[in-house]
Amino acid sequence: MSKRDELYRWHYRALAEKCAKNLEKNRFSVKVVDTKEEARDYVLSLCREASSVGFGGSLTVAELGIFAALKESGKELLNHGLPDLSPEERNEIRRKQQSCDLFLTSTNALTLDGKLVNIDGTGNRVNAMAFGPGRTLVVAGGNKIVLDVERGIKRIKDYVAPMNAKRLGYDTPCAKTGICADCSSPQRICNVTTILEKCPPASRIEVLIVCEPLGL
Ligand code: SF4
Repeated sequence: MSKRDELYRWHYRALAEKCAKNLEKNRFSVKVVDTKEEARDYVLSLCREASSVGFGGSLTVAELGIFAALKESGKELLNHGLPDLSPEERNEIRRKQQSCDLFLTSTNALTLDGKLVNIDGTGNRVNAMAFGPGRTLVVAGGNKIVLDVERGIKRIKDYVAPMNAKRLGYDTPCAKTGICADCSSPQRICNVTTILEKCPPASRIEVLIVCEPLGL
């Protein structure tokens, strides 16, 4: 491991431990792992117990190769991001995600005081994160940890949303300039902001923090 990677690992671990303590205080389950490989093994172990698995459109989960690993598993895989789906088919999958056995997603930001901050275009992801699936697993690289909610929103607007708009090929100002213009574009991806301050009582949400950078 390079000195640089070693320093990042150390810093992410320090942030993750503090964040994990506060997430637990906020009634979320938490697990911290060092590597992507450990994260992938853990995610797949949870998938074994589920008949239906929903995918929230997360680059983090995609980086772990979970969808590909489950393709031949016989499970119902609810992934609205697959190519060649019609808008109606995508929405049908998004609806089914709300009641799947296991919903896999990341979070746009994780605060040191144990909150999850997200901004969605459609709202299916943040809906399913808050209530619906039998279980939700939120996978977050150490790069997602920020000091507080304000910085979480800033992180999303400054980096995450413009890069996501670019990745998805949307016609928004930020996808051209890289800078948020608080647009009114029909394809605006910043329509629903949620802050999970504590785990809602009827939901089962676990946060898996990985001490490596993952996702945007
Ligand atoms: S509000 Fe519009 S310009 Fe700003 S980040 Fe969101 S989609 Fe991009």
